[in-house]
Amino acid sequence: MIDRLEECPCLCHRGFNLKHCVACCQTCPVCHKNISSQHFEAHSRCHQRDLEQLILKKVEPRIRLAWSQDTASPNCQKIWSRKNPALGQCAVTALLVQDLLGGELIRTEVSGYGSHYYNRLPSGDTADLTAEQFPPVTHIPPGEPRDREYVLNSPGAVAARTKERYELLKNRYATVRPGQ
Ligand SMILES: [Zn+2]
Ligand SMILES: [Zn+2]
Ligand SMILES: [Zn+2]
Repeated sequence: MIDRLEECPCLCHRGFNLKHCVACCQTCPVCHKNISSQHFEAHSRCHQRDLEQLILKKVEPRIRLAWSQDTASPNCQKIWSRKNPALGQCAVTALLVQDLLGGELIRTEVSGYGSHYYNRLPSGDTADLTAEQFPPVTHIPPGEPRDREYVLNSPGAVAARTKERYELLKNRYATVRPGQ
């Protein structure tokens, strides 16, 4: 019912050659329906979770390609290899995911490994692109939100050169193309 109200009733979709100054609707990237402009924001909110998954599916392979030894945290660089590319990439990856999808940065402590960052997306879903760096049985407890300032500039972040590594990851992300 609501869907029908949201769908654009404009005659331009029925072959009439109308010219609009302001677009009558936008096409939803999830359901591919033409949604009237005044309903689009609310409609997208309902589809937030699907939208996030669409975006994640697109950006994840590129983030993986952008990971390298020099974007890993300094104490992981010695043992970093392509076999476990997510190793030591958690803070910089969480920052990049926040750039791309919004939401919050979550910090937790993983027993035996120390500080670990992941994302809480605007829908409330969790995205942890670097969880695979730990053995499969590892328990990752729920964490607490941290603002970007903390993740980039806290004394721990300065020691780990997080800002510098994040810039490196971001630049590499912008240039990698999956399939290379
Ligand atoms: Zn129209
Ligand atoms: Zn329309
Ligand atoms: Zn839709």
